[in-house]
Amino acid sequence: MTDPAYAALLDHMKVPAALHGVAGVLGWDQEVVMPSGGADPRAEQLAVLARLAHERETDPRVGEWLIACGEASAIGEAPDDDGARSTNLREWRRGYARATRMPADLVAEMAATESRAQVAWAEARRNSDFAAFRPWLEKVVDLQRQKARCLRDETCDDDWDALAEGFEPGMRGRDLAPIFDELRARIGGLLAEVDAAPNPPSRAFIELPVPQAQQEAFCREVADALGFDFRRGRLDRSTHPFTSGSHPDDVRITTRFADDNLPDALGSTVHEVGHGLYEQGLPAEHAWTPRGCAVSLGIHESQSRLWENQVMRSEGFWQWARYVLRRHAADVVKALTFEDLHRGVNRVERSLIRVEADEATYNLHIAVRFEIERALINGALDVADLPSAWNAAMAEVVGVDVPDDARGCLQDVHWSCGLFGYFPTYTLGNLYAAQFYRAAQEQLGDLEDMFSVGEFSTLRGWLREQVHAPGSRDLPDALCRRISGQALSVEPLMAHLTQRVRTVYGLT
Ligand code: ZN
Repeated sequence: MTDPAYAALLDHMKVPAALHGVAGVLGWDQEVVMPSGGADPRAEQLAVLARLAHERETDPRVGEWLIACGEASAIGEAPDDDGARSTNLREWRRGYARATRMPADLVAEMAATESRAQVAWAEARRNSDFAAFRPWLEKVVDLQRQKARCLRDETCDDDWDALAEGFEPGMRGRDLAPIFDELRARIGGLLAEVDAAPNPPSRAFIELPVPQAQQEAFCREVADALGFDFRRGRLDRSTHPFTSGSHPDDVRITTRFADDNLPDALGSTVHEVGHGLYEQGLPAEHAWTPRGCAVSLGIHESQSRLWENQVMRSEGFWQWARYVLRRHAADVVKALTFEDLHRGVNRVERSLIRVEADEATYNLHIAVRFEIERALINGALDVADLPSAWNAAMAEVVGVDVPDDARGCLQDVHWSCGLFGYFPTYTLGNLYAAQFYRAAQEQLGDLEDMFSVGEFSTLRGWLREQVHAPGSRDLPDALCRRISGQALSVEPLMAHLTQRVRTVYGLT
């Protein structure tokens, strides 16, 4: 049965999808190989691509075709469609509504302000000078509040909800607040146990000097063993690790190396491999359409966290990885025992910097940001009071004294480029990862037995089928219920953290 409006949409929307893919490759190029002199022309190239994509996405004909598809809904879906038509229409409608509600002037002003604010932020962080960044952040917050008022609908309780919807469909502050309350209380209890533990893991592995070439060879072998497909992907170096690409057949991941921090290089590599496996596992037959895309940032992060935390920090993984490491760096690691390696990557410590935090306290760093950004957007906190609010929250929630703003409220890039409502997706990723992994263990048997002999394909195949291949067919809540039989809950993550911490600290 012909459905000309849907056919027109498929054809029309392939163009912005391809443009976003090209922008992804250019963004990767910028961080990995571009000479620094190329920054200005690259910014112009990216701005042109963004404008072309936005024009295409907000073309009034898109609205007309969407209405026509709605009227033609009685046509229904072919049985072998696997949710493609309904998913594509749902996501195109959502994107069109959000894009067309934003005045073009506001979009342009935000883009111009945020790129300059990001430059001001980098300088302010270098000098630990909040006063220099403050006027920029005030402008960014003001624009974000204008944006929120354009996007807010009856499903939102406040302006923050309208912004968060852009990163995680269905995520609301009212649902997150009790989750963070419970995490704070229970992780606080775990930290009390850690503080009282008589025999904490040594820092021997964390501080071990290992030549970068050996670290890289080790990390590449691990990435390959976990299933990252180097014929359809690359692993390179960048200052801040990330995953980018344009298609399941071309996925770019990056990592970083320092002479004396192999666990960081390995953790970054495995984290990005998790993102990369999701991208490589998306259904290529639905490429260029929403059905073939990741469903949300929280689900994307669940895939990186699951491989980084549930797998790489497990005893089973190190039963295998210690021999791989010995092959690549025998002379430097020969003095370390299995316990040094496994316990070393699982040290729990109150700290100042989010990106260096361990798997338990990490969520406390996000709790601080969630509370503060909600207050900033909803008008309960003035930008001028951010440093004092930040320092008070870090003392109360994480238990550290912040010595300066560079290591305090200036540490993250997100707010300078207008990413408000983004941070909670990191903790959602941890929660989904624990809940999915528990379901995998119930269905697949003893996964750590498999890891101990370098067998990761059973878990990867399960994730491919359960999470990757569905793309954005199931929204996060539906996906979570289908995989685990339950709504998202704090319980699996806390059970995982409690067991891990007690084992590593000898508290069982
Ligand atoms: Zn990530």
